Amino acid sequence: MDIIKNMETKFFHGNLTPDDLAQKLVAAFNRGNLRAQKIGTGNQTIVQIATDRYARTGGQTATTVTIQKAVDGISVQVGKQDWVGVAASLGKTAFSAFRNPLALLGRLEDLAQDLESLQLRERIWQTIQELAQTSNASHQLSERLRRLECGYCNTANEIGAPQCIACGAPLGGAQPQTCKHCGFVVTNAESICPNCYNRL
Ligand SMILES: [Zn+2]
Ligand SMILES: [Zn+2]
Repeated sequence: MDIIKNMETKFFHGNLTPDDLAQKLVAAFNRGNLRAQKIGTGNQTIVQIATDRYARTGGQTATTVTIQKAVDGISVQVGKQDWVGVAASLGKTAFSAFRNPLALLGRLEDLAQDLESLQLRERIWQTIQELAQTSNASHQLSERLRRLECGYCNTANEIGAPQCIACGAPLGGAQPQTCKHCGFVVTNAESICPNCYNRL
């Protein structure tokens, strides 16, 4: 299993839909030196974010955000970032500075743009967190999943109830909760998150 890739999937619970988040991401990133577009609709939506091909400063970079309908909300994955263009541009800056330190002055704008590009994924995650917050979606389970069905008599119980209100069966080990790091739905019986491998 690819641990690094898995660490990049986060879950937001609440009424946020893939379309909602995708539209808001496009609005947030389709500006300046970046171009963003939404692909697909419904239960799986992809947003491509890339540096403008015709930008005059810095190298090219691109990544994709995949948003899917999940239990009680959405799952969001930010893909690997394509670095090649930025690396080449940074290399060119380093090389010109090595040949002639004054030449660096001519590449300051490229350098600024490249450093900004290097932080693209962090900026995307930060924006996703902010957009989720303004839509009242979070890593916490939403109210509608805050019921726990008794395994013996199928009665819906309040989350946190130690035993079933109808038949008295213990409910301890089956309590659903969420990983505070990534929002994945887990049960009390688990000590390591199966999604991000952090300790619960
Ligand atoms: Zn029961
Ligand atoms: Zn987790």
